[in-house]
Amino acid sequence: MSNSLLPPSPTVRRGSTRRRAASNVPPMQDSHHGALQAIRSFLKGRICYDAFPISFRLIVLDTKLSVKRALQCLLMNSVVSAPLWNSDKSEFAGMLTVLDIIHLIQYYWRTSSYDSASEDVETLRLEKLREIEIELGVAQPPLLRKHPDNTLYEAAQVLVQTHARRLPLLDYDSDTGHEVIVSTLTQYRLLKFISINAKIQKLNLSLRRLKIGTYVANPSPNDVPEGQNPYHPIATATLNTTVFSVVHMFSELAISAVPIINEDGIVVNLYETVDVMTLVRSGSYQSLDLTISEALKQRSLDFPGVVICTASDSLGTLLQLIKKRRVHRLVVVEGEEEERKGGRKGRLLGIITLSDVLRYIMGAGTINETHEPRQTQTPAMSVPSSNVLASPANLTTPNA
Ligand code: AMP
Repeated sequence: MSNSLLPPSPTVRRGSTRRRAASNVPPMQDSHHGALQAIRSFLKGRICYDAFPISFRLIVLDTKLSVKRALQCLLMNSVVSAPLWNSDKSEFAGMLTVLDIIHLIQYYWRTSSYDSASEDVETLRLEKLREIEIELGVAQPPLLRKHPDNTLYEAAQVLVQTHARRLPLLDYDSDTGHEVIVSTLTQYRLLKFISINAKIQKLNLSLRRLKIGTYVANPSPNDVPEGQNPYHPIATATLNTTVFSVVHMFSELAISAVPIINEDGIVVNLYETVDVMTLVRSGSYQSLDLTISEALKQRSLDFPGVVICTASDSLGTLLQLIKKRRVHRLVVVEGEEEERKGGRKGRLLGIITLSDVLRYIMGAGTINETHEPRQTQTPAMSVPSSNVLASPANLTTPNA
């Protein structure tokens, strides 16, 4: 497989006096657009098999398994989702994801006590989860699938259109007549594959300009009348919020992380759906009454950290980071540029998830045509060894 995104080398016409037609597009933007087009063509020319890692493990869970054992299995194998198999019908039965666990918590909150929930989870089988979701009235996850021979472009389109974070890849065994679960293509895997193969350094326009992500609507949150969320539409919490309130936000807003801010709006941490999974693994649903501050103390020591960036960082820098490490979302904070306009360094400005990045790359984004200063190629996102959120544009592992 070729690892290059470069189009075939153009034939150089030596000695030609013909000049290229003048372009109205500034060079920086020209190169950015060119790189984007190259990525899309590349995805059309590669199939899902191409993006598979050299070696991988696939955990498939039988729908007869209890929720508790399934959770233990996910945690033991350090995965946050797994395809489900209906052994009665010998067919693929969808995915178990952390969102199912969030829904389960909501269900127990509405219908019974946490004590009985802990007992139920011992016996409740995965096949019952869909019924619970129907009873809760939450959207049923669509039964997505693609053949691994489909192009990455087609797979990416499905991910963008359905807002799914992963796409199960299924083949068909002609001997048995049954489906075969081959793998799952995650947003992360796809973006990492792009980052490895694309000329990402050419994606030099800033996140601000590309409008990738969700941003605070009010430019001066301090002036927002009391009782209103100054960081709307971003859902936020403080260290004193209970885990349970955050679980509600996850479920109601269909989001998977909530920035934790202090009274000045400075980002001090991020609480994610996977954190809830760690908390309920022991079946101790009482732990949902903990405050975020207490819950964060239970985070495993190998927690990879919260990634923060500023809106001046470029898409290329972001993809560079994805290439190097498993990143699922970044919190955007105010940087020097906002500070010059009366803002405050480190204050919450937005959130960018892999869905936002993929949506933009696949062509669902727009470019703000206003002029902006040239970006440096030095990544503004870095990895300090300290365990506090010392300054914006730093990637840290806060366990506050
Ligand atoms: P996700 O499903 O996590 O990729 O996020 C779906 C969409 O919600 C993306 O467009 C995010 O920018 C946005 N989003 C993520 N977290 C939050 C949050 N805490 N508040 C508001 N929007 C969010």
